[in-house]
Amino acid sequence: MRLYSLLAAAKINLYLEIVGSRPDGFHELIMVMQSVSLCDRITVRSIGIDEIRVRCDHPLVPADDTNLAYKAAALVSQRFPGVMAKLGGVEITIEKQIPVGAGLAGGSANAAAVLVGLDLLWNLGLAQGELQALGAELGSDVPFCVAGGTAIATGRGEQLDSLPGIDSLHLVLAKYESEFVSTPWAYQTYRAEYGDTYTDAQGWQARQSQVRSGDMVRAVAKRDAIALSQHLYNDFEKVVLPAHPKTAALQATMADLGGLGTLMSGSGPSVFTLAESEAQAIDLATRLRSALPDPDLGVWTAQFIPSGVRLAS
Ligand code: ATP
Repeated sequence: MRLYSLLAAAKINLYLEIVGSRPDGFHELIMVMQSVSLCDRITVRSIGIDEIRVRCDHPLVPADDTNLAYKAAALVSQRFPGVMAKLGGVEITIEKQIPVGAGLAGGSANAAAVLVGLDLLWNLGLAQGELQALGAELGSDVPFCVAGGTAIATGRGEQLDSLPGIDSLHLVLAKYESEFVSTPWAYQTYRAEYGDTYTDAQGWQARQSQVRSGDMVRAVAKRDAIALSQHLYNDFEKVVLPAHPKTAALQATMADLGGLGTLMSGSGPSVFTLAESEAQAIDLATRLRSALPDPDLGVWTAQFIPSGVRLAS
């Protein structure tokens, strides 16, 4: 096969707690991550020459060596020297559906799909754990995006323990196209305002144990949508929403619509509301568009899914 098309799923954070500052400069996190059915389509195609090319028609996504998908291919070709000379290079086509810079890990999902696609295209025979280890070199969210589903993520987000999936839940996602949050800014601001709550490595372990046996993880384990919705939590809301009044108003409007629960995802600015059925998600989305009739507002419906990257049919 000279071409593979893959679907790369966006993620949301059902729970995100920042517990400290690591010696490597990253933050120590405790998260519950969930793949959702909003996907980019990534196609990897063999080309005759020993080169990596990226094509993407989204104006905010670079089609050069700064694209995370390009970096994923460069990493694989570097780890398997000679593979491109033997089997040819690769053209990566990215068809974007996941909003860019939204806290939905779009770039990480694209990188994860390239790792999975090149494993197939170049017959590397890598196990999922090996793909995730490569992914961790590209970004903290990439290992989760490879496997997807539902997982507790600790460390900088790359240490994963999978949880039972809750595939029956639906959601509405919304983001103002003109609103962006710089993830480094969000971490710096959080550190400036809440750094005094940070604990040491022993404290992180204790907090991890509490979260693992706490309300959110119990709700996921029991597949209890109501309890899960009641325990949605994201530390980033404390710094991002005050600095982004438009997104704060969006969050408040979505929370008032009567879904199961509303939260900002990652460092934002996308916001999601959970729904118990597809019909409820469509109804919430329709009412959100009527409540905020602004052409700048993007609104999507999606559902929880059990995988990160999968072959497109
Ligand atoms: P995260 O949730 O992991 O913080 P995000 O969803 O906030 O990520 P992305 O959509 O991944 O953000 O994009 C962040 C930046 O990365 C954008 O400014 C974009 O130009 C750049 N970028 C590089 N490669 C990609 C890619 N393949 N897809 C999207 N953005 C990319």
